[in-house]
Amino acid sequence: MYIDAHLDLAFQLSKQLNPALPLEELRERAVALEYSDIPLVSFEELRRGGVGLCFATLFACPYHREFSPWGYTDWQGAAQQAQTQLEQYLRWQDAGLVRILLNQEDVQDHFKKYDPQNHPKDSKNILGIILLMEGADPIRKPDDLEKWFKAGVRMIGPAWEKTRYAGGTDQPGPLTGMGHDLLIGMQEMGIILDVSHMDDLAFWEAIDLQPKVIASHANARALVPTNRHLSDEMLHALHGRGGTLGLVPFNKFLQPDWDRPMPRLELAVLRRHAEHCANILGWDHMGIGSDFDGGLGLNEIPLGFSSAADFIRFGEVAPESESAGILGDNWKRWLEGNF
Ligand SMILES: [Zn+2]
Repeated sequence: MYIDAHLDLAFQLSKQLNPALPLEELRERAVALEYSDIPLVSFEELRRGGVGLCFATLFACPYHREFSPWGYTDWQGAAQQAQTQLEQYLRWQDAGLVRILLNQEDVQDHFKKYDPQNHPKDSKNILGIILLMEGADPIRKPDDLEKWFKAGVRMIGPAWEKTRYAGGTDQPGPLTGMGHDLLIGMQEMGIILDVSHMDDLAFWEAIDLQPKVIASHANARALVPTNRHLSDEMLHALHGRGGTLGLVPFNKFLQPDWDRPMPRLELAVLRRHAEHCANILGWDHMGIGSDFDGGLGLNEIPLGFSSAADFIRFGEVAPESESAGILGDNWKRWLEGNF
C-alpha cells in the first residue's frame, strides 16, 4: 500500500471539485470554471495508483483579496471551514469512499484488509485517512483541542501562513502564548506535530514541546531557500526525534527560479531533494506528501505523472532498494511506532 502524507481532499469541495467524481469530469469542470490548474486527484485515481492511506487535511483558507476573497478573517470563519470539511469526510465515510483511522488498531486493521494486488474500479479497497489540521486557526483556544481530537483530528500543523498560534510561510514569527499552550495540549493528547509551513522561530520552540513530529509536505531549504522548507539543522532535529518527511513534488518547491508557465521539470529534480534530505534523515525516514490537490495541477508537477494514479513513479526518486520505503513502507513503520 502506498501512502500519501498530504492531500486536501475535502477542501476541493470549496472549489466545486469533488474527488468522488471521475478525473475526466473534474478536468472538464476546471476548464468550465476557468481554473488554471488541471486536476490530478480523484478517489478513483488514488485507488488505481495504489494509494491506500493518506493524511487528509482540514484546511481553512485565510482571506486574500485576489485568490480567496471568501477566506476567513477570524477564528469563527476558520472553524466554519474546518467543520464543513470534517462533515464532508464523514459523509464520504458513510458512502464507503474513505475510512477515518483513529488509532493503532484502526491502522493495523486497515493494512490487513487492503489488497495491494487489487486496484480496479470495483475494488473493495477503501482509502484510509488520518485527519490533519493544516493551520490551527479553526481551534478557538487551546482548551478546545479535545473537541477536535474527539472529532478525529490526530495531526496538527499549527501554521500555514502566520496563524494565531505560530509564525508560518513568508510570515515569520515564534509560537504565540496560545501556540505554546496548544503544543502542550498536543503533547498530552498525543496529537502529532506537523512542522510543515512553520517558521524557524516557531519550529524550534514547538519541536521541544511535542517531539512526536513529522513534516507532511516539505523539501530541502538548501536547494530552495525559503522558510517554506526545512534547513539542514531542522532536518537534523527531525532526525533526532525519529520524524519522517513527505517530499512535495511541486515544481516551484523544487527549483527556486521555476514559475508558471515554465515547462515541467524532470523528476530528477525531486530526486536531488530526496538525496539531500535522506543524507540527514536516512532513507528510512523519507516519504511523499504529494499535495497534488493543494493549489497545483498537471503543469506544476514534474514530468512522468499524468494523475495521482502514477504515484508509483515516486519510487524513482530513491535508490531501488529504498523505493518501497519512500512509497509507503516508511510512513507505515512510522505510524506503527507513533500513532
Ligand atoms: Zn500546505
